[in-house]
Amino acid sequence: MIPYGRQSISDEDVAAVVRVLRSDFLTQGPEVPRFEQAVRDYTGAGHALAFNSATSALHAACLALGVGPGDRVWTSPNTFVASANCARYCGATVDFVDIDPETLNLGVAALAAKLEAAAAASQLPKVVIAVDFAGEPCDLRAMRALLDRYGPIRLIEDASHAIGGRYADRPIGAGEFSDITIFSFHPVKLITTAEGGMALTNDAALAEAMALFRSHGITRDAAKLEADEGPWYYEQQTLGYNYRMTELQAALGTSQLTRLDAWVARRHELAAQYDRALAGLPLKLPRYDAAGRSALHLYPVQLQGAAVGRRVFFERLRARGIGVNVHYIPVHRQPDYRQLGFRAGDFPCAEAYYANAVSLPMYADLSDAQQAEVVTAVKGSLQS
Ligand SMILES: *Cc1c(COP(=O)(O)O)cnc(C)c1O
Repeated sequence: MIPYGRQSISDEDVAAVVRVLRSDFLTQGPEVPRFEQAVRDYTGAGHALAFNSATSALHAACLALGVGPGDRVWTSPNTFVASANCARYCGATVDFVDIDPETLNLGVAALAAKLEAAAAASQLPKVVIAVDFAGEPCDLRAMRALLDRYGPIRLIEDASHAIGGRYADRPIGAGEFSDITIFSFHPVKLITTAEGGMALTNDAALAEAMALFRSHGITRDAAKLEADEGPWYYEQQTLGYNYRMTELQAALGTSQLTRLDAWVARRHELAAQYDRALAGLPLKLPRYDAAGRSALHLYPVQLQGAAVGRRVFFERLRARGIGVNVHYIPVHRQPDYRQLGFRAGDFPCAEAYYANAVSLPMYADLSDAQQAEVVTAVKGSLQS
């Protein structure tokens, strides 16, 4: 089976992890700060905090921004559930902004209209979580301008698909327009630490708050302690969690990061080859590179005037050993969101995209020969 995405692990990656296994620290040693520094250097962000997943990083980001009961948080329906769940962990109310059918990202026009209506009803959100779907950067400059007009409204960029991409001539994560940027290092993403994530910000107070939430709300910083009972002394100053990344994961991440640019370049090569090979078929191909450089996490096609339906197309591809997938079932269609009152039809652009979407294999180690196999299978599976 050719999967839709998979990690690339080198001998250097293995050696980096083994070195840590034989070292003094398996957690809370030098490797996590080293990985954080490497991602700061790569992105230009002022602060970077490693987490044990992007989901926990999203949770800490919401907490640091003060999200709580009574607050509203808006995100895109075309995302993994974690982009919305993080606000619910904080007791906030989640709502969605429909996507732009071309970029498949949270739509700027839809955001403008929803903000106008929410302002009239005194129901503005506290935070908007924009998602760089498939690696395509959101139009953050336009979003920031809109949020500032109605704000203060904070912006989290869920860049789980987008490390290695660029927006407005700077690396994703530089944080020129968003308050906090989140990366995921799950194995199907751009680089991996098995499980893992990171939160980036240029705001020292937000970084400090997220660091506290990451580790039980505990500090040992003498400048911040209320008392000094001895060298062993620490204080829990807020309710936090254990969301820490291990040293093994961080060493893997640092090693992986050295190959990220080459991997994104290979993804662009593969996408250009798909674009050429699939042109003229009853498929709408993904648009990318609109506002910057996509990291091309996914290559999602949409059936368009095909003789077969999506389900048959998908099942035929799987039967031919092509591990296609669908990104995403709109979050508001999940049973756990329906019980909050969301209904089919609430976000028609995300639903129309979902109805025809299939993600083709896209990862750095996909060979030209494997890609040719995918293309042959796609052509064969489109026959009536
Ligand atoms: C993968 C993903 C997440 C969650 O990442 P984890 O590291 O698995 O917690 C969140 N948001 C988006 C858009 C994702 O694709």
